[in-house]
Amino acid sequence: MPKLVVVTGGVMSGVGKGVVVASLGRILRARGVTVNAVKIDPYLNVDAGTMNPYAHGEVFVTFDGGETDLDLGHYERFLDVELPRRNNVTSGQVYLSVIEKERRGDFLGQTVQLIPHVTDEIKRRIVEAAGGYDVTLVEIGGTVGDYEQLPFLEATRQLRLELGDDVVFIHVAWVPFLSTTGEFKTKPLQHSVAELRRYGIQPDAVVVRSERPVDAGSVRKIALFAHVPQWAIFNSYNVDTIYKVPLLLEQQGVGDFLVKRLRLVSRAPDYRDWEEFVSRLTAPRHRVAVGMCGKYVELPDAYLSIIEALRHAGAALDAKPELVWINSVEVEKDPDMLRRLGLDAVVVLPGFGKRGTEGMIECIRYARTEKIPFLGICFGMQLAVVEFARNVVGLRGANSTELDPETPHPVIHLAPEQREVDVLGGSMILGNREVEIVPNTLAASLYGAAATVERHRHRYEVNLSYLPQLAEAGLVVSGWRRDTKRVEIIELPNHPYFIATQFHPEFRSRPTKPRPVFVGLLKAALS
Ligand code: GLN
Repeated sequence: MPKLVVVTGGVMSGVGKGVVVASLGRILRARGVTVNAVKIDPYLNVDAGTMNPYAHGEVFVTFDGGETDLDLGHYERFLDVELPRRNNVTSGQVYLSVIEKERRGDFLGQTVQLIPHVTDEIKRRIVEAAGGYDVTLVEIGGTVGDYEQLPFLEATRQLRLELGDDVVFIHVAWVPFLSTTGEFKTKPLQHSVAELRRYGIQPDAVVVRSERPVDAGSVRKIALFAHVPQWAIFNSYNVDTIYKVPLLLEQQGVGDFLVKRLRLVSRAPDYRDWEEFVSRLTAPRHRVAVGMCGKYVELPDAYLSIIEALRHAGAALDAKPELVWINSVEVEKDPDMLRRLGLDAVVVLPGFGKRGTEGMIECIRYARTEKIPFLGICFGMQLAVVEFARNVVGLRGANSTELDPETPHPVIHLAPEQREVDVLGGSMILGNREVEIVPNTLAASLYGAAATVERHRHRYEVNLSYLPQLAEAGLVVSGWRRDTKRVEIIELPNHPYFIATQFHPEFRSRPTKPRPVFVGLLKAALS
């Protein structure tokens, strides 16, 4: 039988509940407990792949090709695991499978209802995901009180009834500090717990999210109104890096609380690697200015895993990457702005659609001609090929057919197997693929191996019929996809560091295991 830690959110969203959940996982893992984490998203999309990054931030891609919520990225980075797509459960998936079963006749003769049919499907998915682990964390997205959340709260309430003490409820809620009166306000938290109780859920513990440490008086008040003992109230106040949160909660006894409450067999916690990583992260000796060029730059969450991957690489080099966000639409208006930014390195980011692409191409041209260390990721790689085709090979009007279907030189085109695709959801080239590395290249020196595995999310790719011309002009293909023999990595030899990948190296980066292309970029920038 699985042991579950169900985490709900109160007061408002966007307070870093996912980081708290990931931290709880890290705390258990530090004790040798095997941990898994599931994110529940109450929206009706089947997955995050069809949503605008402006609304929900980055789409995190799992090894098995799931397009999931970015919280799965926090879980993977904090737990150092690869989670399957089924660890992101959405209302869309749940309703779709219930309705499909109804049409098949699986419920013949019955009235199909929210309770028990939908709640049973939710429970089935949670229990299935939990299989084989000591503990599974279940984060219910959104805020208590949302209509869409109700079936999930009801399903987990039932699980508590069925599994008893093997289910723990933890409520994470924001406690605002009112500067006019100089006090913390616990009332919104009290209301959110009261709301939770209306659905039959009494939290076993509360994690107070706040700007600064809450005072003892507030803790007493929360204990009284939330009906939770004071020793089960923890405080995750703002710290300078999310990677400190496990250590902060550990100091307050969260680990011992969970071990006792779930009756876990565990060893003394070991944070040696983690603490070393955090100390290198927070006291770096060097700084590098990294230009981040894309079109969703107003919401850096759209590129969350790339930001984290750069931080991991920075920690390994004792360097802090200072991110300079470059809106590619602005570059189109004023290309000279790039010179004024004092960049040590340039990353051209993933993306879709035409808007801002000429600015991204300009950014690539700048990095190439000014010999500034450059990394292109996915779309950034495709545009690097376009830039090279236009400005080095001399193919006027070269483009990706995604951006200009009539281009005279379609150096980037739809992958052949994508031409049959007629539904847009979940149909890209997705997930882990093996990449063969070409010997005696920059890629080979970075990876130090003949092959690697990286994650993917794209439809377009390098048009192989242009390869001879591109190679003739100096473009080197240094990585090939093993299964279909398509271009995965390109590089330019006469440049301090110019590399671009069709895959997304950011998704497999871990705090203490940075991915080579990011380390290489920062190393080149430092020198
Ligand atoms: N739009 C491009 C494609 O579909 C790049 C996608 C991406 O950057 N993730 O191939």
